[in-house]
Amino acid sequence: MTQSDCLFCKIIAGEIPSTVVHETDTTFAFRDLHPQAATHVLIVPRAHYTDAVDLAKNAPALLDDITLAAGEIAGQEGIAESGYRLVFNTGADAGQTVFHTHLHLLGGEQLGHFGRP
Ligand code: 5GP
Ligand code: ZN
Repeated sequence: MTQSDCLFCKIIAGEIPSTVVHETDTTFAFRDLHPQAATHVLIVPRAHYTDAVDLAKNAPALLDDITLAAGEIAGQEGIAESGYRLVFNTGADAGQTVFHTHLHLLGGEQLGHFGRP
């Protein structure tokens, strides 16, 4: 299930280049173009769902898959022990700009607090 006008569907299909760090049958992970931390990876289900709640409602196993992929990537990147942050931006107030569910993996340095600007 893909959506023709979706940036991340195009990245998964290889139509737009990305730096791929991890792949499974159901998940795809690549480096964020504008990293907000020393390590900033986006983990997405290959199937198109708009946000985390859409994914949880309609394909909950994929929520497990992207979370487990995040854990493996943290190990690969050497930040499993130092710690990392997993974030789902959901909707306008959170700054979601791409409406294909994506889990941000941030780490590799001490992260700041989050919430209000
Ligand atoms: P959101 O703000 O929707 O939670 O996150 C979207 C993320 O996608 C942003 O962090 C942004 O930097 C990243 N992004 C936007 N366009 C591209 C792109 O073409 N390639 C990659 N690798 N990341 C992108
Ligand atoms: Zn998509």
